[in-house]
Amino acid sequence: ATSNEPRPIKRLNETLINRIAAGEIIHRPASALKELIENSLDAGSTSIKVSVKDGGLKLLQIQDNGHGIRKTDLPILAERFTTSKISSFSDLSRIATYGFRGEALASISHVARLSVTTKTKKDGHAWKATYSDGVLVPAKAGQSADPKPSAGNDGTIITIEDLFFNTPTRLSALRSASDEYARILDVMTKYAVHNSRVSFQCKKAGSGSPELTTPANSTIPQAIKLLYGHTIANELLHATPTSSGEQDPDESMDVDEEDQDMDEKGSWRSEVYFTNANYQAKKTNFLLFINHRLVESSRMKRAVEAVYTSILPKGASPFVYLSLEVDPKHVDVNVHPTKKEVHFLNEDGITAEICSAVQATLAKQATSRSFETQT
Ligand code: ADP
Ligand code: MG
Repeated sequence: ATSNEPRPIKRLNETLINRIAAGEIIHRPASALKELIENSLDAGSTSIKVSVKDGGLKLLQIQDNGHGIRKTDLPILAERFTTSKISSFSDLSRIATYGFRGEALASISHVARLSVTTKTKKDGHAWKATYSDGVLVPAKAGQSADPKPSAGNDGTIITIEDLFFNTPTRLSALRSASDEYARILDVMTKYAVHNSRVSFQCKKAGSGSPELTTPANSTIPQAIKLLYGHTIANELLHATPTSSGEQDPDESMDVDEEDQDMDEKGSWRSEVYFTNANYQAKKTNFLLFINHRLVESSRMKRAVEAVYTSILPKGASPFVYLSLEVDPKHVDVNVHPTKKEVHFLNEDGITAEICSAVQATLAKQATSRSFETQT
């Protein structure tokens, strides 16, 4: 056939489809870990311990003390689009969990060896199950694929071994184990700041002392201090910009028309911890959580950086932690395979209000400081 002629369209085989789909969600060890941390948080865990070998490529294991998985659910656990978190399309508009698509464990099972040990409070002992390509498989040749009774505490241990063993191009695109480990620590650090009530631990398998460890029941500034150091923590300011409807309780008593307007725009609240002019980093460190999801937004980052241009010398950048909560029905979390982007209503308006609150706090601190030096 000449190159002018159309080639026949063929159906891809299932294994290939699944591997392609998995590659969109699981880019590297840190993206697998993000999914696992979110599952542990969704399960109500207060302790999350991670153990890593070769930057997560050889081994990535996460142990939590959450509600566990029912034994009867184990056969479909790693199937694509199986989830305990939503059951209808409309559930998406009130989503309060990280997960909802039931794709993470399935994806992992297509590009790695996956095993799960889990125990609910009701179970007398834990169950251990091994998966490959979405289904239960025997842990060892000759055994049955059924989950096996096992020792274990309440909660879940997920073990991922030999990530990307069957996708060599993905494997060769990753740089080094130490680079991957740094990314793992970065993801964990950010989740540990935002979920400061949960205790996090991350260590290299076989090594004694963890690289990252946080106690349970910390506050966010305590977690920032522990994880980012006192140079940042000592210069932190705090603001809680909130939609005007919530800030002023009288306003919600106003006439119906305004209530409607309020409802259309949506109420929101935020919490910001940000460094003052004394702290000057080379690059902005911007931790952004929207409805508790760690997301990226270059627009919001630029807006926040713009606030600092009049405060910091050229080339100097701040540390900013921003947690924004908006009505779930105004957020679309289903715009990106890894959910690292979300769209929400009135993004520019909300960003502008947050930035002016940050600006006001910075300005107030600057004047009180110059007043101090004058007197
Ligand atoms: P999703 O989180 O989108 O539901 P996942 O593939 O990440 O999809 O997980 C599938 C299901 O497995 C979850 O809905 C949940 O019921 C269960 N699950 C996964 N990890 C855990 C865990 N650490 N603790 C309890 N249940 C879990
Ligand atoms: Mg999940």
